[in-house]
Order: sequence, then C-alpha cells, then structure tokens
Amino acid sequence: MNAPLVPTPGCGTDRVLRQRGQHEVFCGLTSIVWLHRKMQDAFFLVVGSRTCAHLMQSAAGVMIFAEPRFATAIIEERDLAGMAEVNEELDKVVDRLLNRRPDIRLLVLVGSCPSEVIKLDLERAAQRLTRLHTPAVRVLHYSGSGIETTFTQGEDNFLSALSRDLPPADTDAPPSLIVAGALADVVEDQFRRIFEGLGIENVAFLPPRRSTALPAVGPATKVLLAQPFLGETARALEGRGATIIESLFPLGEEGTTAWLRAAAECFGVEPGRFRAITEPGRRRARQAVASRKEALEGRRLFFFPDSQLEPVIARFLHRELGSIPVEVGSPYLHRRFIGPELALLPPGTLVSEGQDVERQLDRCREARPDLVVCGMGLANPLEAQGIATKWSIELVFTPIQGYEQAGDLAELFTRPLARRAALRMEGVPCS
Ligand code: SF4
Repeated sequence: MNAPLVPTPGCGTDRVLRQRGQHEVFCGLTSIVWLHRKMQDAFFLVVGSRTCAHLMQSAAGVMIFAEPRFATAIIEERDLAGMAEVNEELDKVVDRLLNRRPDIRLLVLVGSCPSEVIKLDLERAAQRLTRLHTPAVRVLHYSGSGIETTFTQGEDNFLSALSRDLPPADTDAPPSLIVAGALADVVEDQFRRIFEGLGIENVAFLPPRRSTALPAVGPATKVLLAQPFLGETARALEGRGATIIESLFPLGEEGTTAWLRAAAECFGVEPGRFRAITEPGRRRARQAVASRKEALEGRRLFFFPDSQLEPVIARFLHRELGSIPVEVGSPYLHRRFIGPELALLPPGTLVSEGQDVERQLDRCREARPDLVVCGMGLANPLEAQGIATKWSIELVFTPIQGYEQAGDLAELFTRPLARRAALRMEGVPCS
C-alpha cells in the first residue's frame, strides 16, 4: 500500500504522495563538486571515511589534473576517549594544508555520516581553527552527511553556514539585493547586466567568486533565490533581517521573466523599463525553445526525486514545450517556495515527496513514460527496459538559468529522446 495522498492547498495539483521508504540519491558531499569551482579561494575539507574519499574521487575525477580545492581527511574508527587525538590530527592536517596552499582564504570542514565523524564536534573544531588561523583564513563547517542530506541540500547547508557568517549591513545602508544559489559565472554575468539595465544597484551573488567579497546583510537586504532547494539558507538570511522575494524560479522564458519581475517590483522599477530591458532576452528564449518544441510536445515525463529542481523543470517542460508530467517526485518540497511552481502543473499530475524506490519504479513501469528524469543509479536499469532517461545531476552542472540558456535547457531533454530514436533506427532492441 502506498502512503496516503495529502491535499496541498494552493497548488494546481491536489495530489501529493508522501513516501518515506528507501531512496536512491547522492549525499550532500557531492555538492562540493560544483561549489569548489565557484569559490576560487575556498577549500572544502571533507572529514570522513575512505568511502567518502572514493565518492569524491569518482564524482570529481577530472580534478586529478588540476590543483584541487577539496580533499578528504580520513578518520578511522575511534572510541570517544580517542577523540582528543582526532582533533589534534585534524589541526595538523589543516596546518599542513594551509602552509602548502597560502591562497586559501576560506576553509570549509564538511561533515559526513560515518559514526566516528558523528562523534566529532565540527562546530567546535571550526571555532578552534578560526582562532588559530584568523585573520588569514576563515573556517566554516556544514554537514554533507548522507543521513541528513541529498546532494543539493549540501549546497543549502553550505550557503546557510555562509549566510550566518556574512558581515552585518550598516543601519542606514541603502537597499541591496542578494541572489542566493550557485550559478555558472556566465549566467551570473548575464543577470548582473539585466539588473544594471533595470537600475537595481548593490547586487551581490551568494556564493561570491571569492570569499573576500561576501555581501553585507541586514533589514534593507532583499533576497532572490536562484534555486528551489535553499530553505535553510532562506531561513538563515531571514534570521539576519533580510526579506525573501518569492517568485517562480528562473528556468525558461516564463520563469526568468517572473523572477526578474518580482525583483523589479520590489525595487520599484517602472513597468516600461522592465519591458524594454527584458523583451530582447524573452524573444531569444521563446525562439530557442520553439525550435525544440516538436521533439517534446505531448511527451509524457516521469521525474524521480533527486535534485529538488523537478517541479521547476516539469513546469518549464509543460508550459513552454507542451510535455505532460505524469509524476513529479522531489526529495523534499519547500512548499513556501515551490507552491507557485506546483500551481502551474496540469491537473492530474501526481506530485510525490520523498521516495519508496521500488513502489515508484512500479508506478513508472506502469505509466510507460516517454522520458524519465532520475539519478544515475536508476538510469541504467530503466534504459535496459527500453525507457529513455535523463540524469538529473546534469541539471546542477549545466548552466540552465536565464533567457540565454532556455534553449539549452530544452535540449537536455530532447537529446535522450533523439538518441533512443537513433538506436531504434539502427535496429538495436529497445524493449
Ligand atoms: S557522507 Fe555518508 S553517504 Fe556520503 S560518501 Fe560519506 S559515508 Fe557515503
């Protein structure tokens, strides 16, 4: 028996299936793979086991050719009496690292789930190491443990730790805008130009490219979330006096326009100026998406819970490309932020939160969708059963936000369909 369907007030779909069974999602450590590229003077030190080290190595294998900005301090099994030694060892590892890499300005200790790491108080370790290395290096910590986090929650935990550490804004500071959520530099530059065109000043991005450029935060700060999975970050920024601007998320022409409009209205931008600045981008996005519509229109989509981007992607593919979401799974639904997205899904869409993987696989096989968006672990078996798949982790590695990326975002979903069609033409059995 499946868990009961729970009505979700205010959502276009009135069916949310809550599942609390086995789930198949990467842990929060994986977020380091994109976060370390974003902050160029930060270093992520995983405090973990050999398993964590192997995960990091295989998830970010390309980095062996570069000077890496992450590593794993491997903690072996100890009893509680041995924890003082572990702290000493950690201090020595950090000493060696900072001596060898004087370019590091922000050291981030990332907790994991082995029991020997859980016993270690990383908050106190971060405080102790900050005292030892200030002012040259600031030390933060967050949890990327697989018990508590899925891979995008790793970013949320990191940004909420960073938010608590932001400098306070002066009491008479002018209004400012923080865009929260790691974005590709190219996307950040595009948005920065649009905000300039709209006349919105004092715009900062979190995380910044350098830890020395952390924005100040206070009651005059407005926050625009660039990602739907930043519930803890939003709470931390609100705790610092900031106000969250609620909106659709900036995927596709519709989402990007709504997101920019929410900021423009908040900063009193005149509607004529908003139209003039956004219209060229809107036109380009509509054209780019239209050229991919034939491949996706009427296609039935099934989303397994993975990145928390699922409702946003489903809204984009439904509203701008005419696809039909059958089931939209998400590891967690931040209802306050995701509600406007759910309201735009077609009636009858099943939204599921959490996972019970075997039951969901049964529903998927029964639905026979044209395309499944899922984690890497489920993709191969589904492909072997003749179902086209898209890895959802690509959505956090690929620039997809904003007008200029709307066509590329659609393309991510046309490609697996085209590949499967090509395999069929070559006579490879698909089912
Ligand atoms: S944090 Fe936990 S789930 Fe993630 S790699 Fe380490 S042991 Fe595995």
